[in-house]
Amino acid sequence: MNNSVTVLGIFVADISFSGPKIPRVGETILGTKYNVGPGGKGCNQAIAISKLGGKVNFISKIGKDEYGKLAMDTLIKNNININKVIVDKNLQTGVAGILIDKNTGKNAINVITGAPSTFTINEIKKQINIIKDSKIFITQLELPKEVTLHSLKFARENNVTTILNPAPASQISKEFFESIDFFTPNETEAEFYTGIQIKNENDAKKASSKLISMGLKNIVITLGERGLFYSDGKKEIYMKANTVKAIDTTGAGDAFNGGLAYGLSQDKSIEDCLKLANNVAALSTTKVGAGNSMPSWKDLESL
Ligand code: ADP
Repeated sequence: MNNSVTVLGIFVADISFSGPKIPRVGETILGTKYNVGPGGKGCNQAIAISKLGGKVNFISKIGKDEYGKLAMDTLIKNNININKVIVDKNLQTGVAGILIDKNTGKNAINVITGAPSTFTINEIKKQINIIKDSKIFITQLELPKEVTLHSLKFARENNVTTILNPAPASQISKEFFESIDFFTPNETEAEFYTGIQIKNENDAKKASSKLISMGLKNIVITLGERGLFYSDGKKEIYMKANTVKAIDTTGAGDAFNGGLAYGLSQDKSIEDCLKLANNVAALSTTKVGAGNSMPSWKDLESL
């Protein structure tokens, strides 16, 4: 086992539109800027880890099209191991349509996952051996669930620390819970899994207790501009977010998860891991884009 992190997830080309607001149903607005850049939770998390100096393997599937080229260029540029990225000429690379309110940086997103939606257990079995040699395995809920579960179980069986970023929120079985070391929902996801609406630190505390009672081990609820709440059932940590000028919060959760995964891969204390994740995420909101907004150590010095 080395200090590397294996990320299983998707790449999508983020096509984002900034404007004075997020339009309502039926409404047309004149926006101010558009941007095409790398996205997809898995790819964003992989970039965040690599920018911090972590060794990253990315397991994914893309098409052989223009956006597939953007995926490969991005991964290679960021020193991410692409040996386990399947390129299928019959499939489309994923895309996401993102609407951004330029005043708050808040967004609304529609993701077409494309190629990775066809991932099967047989296919993943050929890719996941690399997890065995990693220290950390991190994944999300953007792939077929049976593939995600199979990979989490494989990682756990091989004593690799697992992180599930349960996004986008969707029903998962108890079998999942047993294979997860760190569960990292944001506020809306935490509400989805617990039924508890999170408006403050106390709500986050209640939701964490409920998740622990459901069999999860370490809970990190990200609270947007309010920071985060951590619990392992005994120790509880509430950390405020950094004060920054947020212009685009797309990928903030991914930056956070990347920072956490990197910290854990370096055997840092939980406090230090959370602090790093909180800092990486804050800085990611000060730049436009998801994958392209991940900070380096040099950027982190500015905080
Ligand atoms: P997601 O992007 O998954 O919805 P959150 O909105 O909870 O996740 O944000 C993840 C993390 O990003 C937060 O825990 C915090 O560390 C950081 N963050 C998000 N928004 C801001 C902000 N406006 N200012 C500073 N940090 C922020």
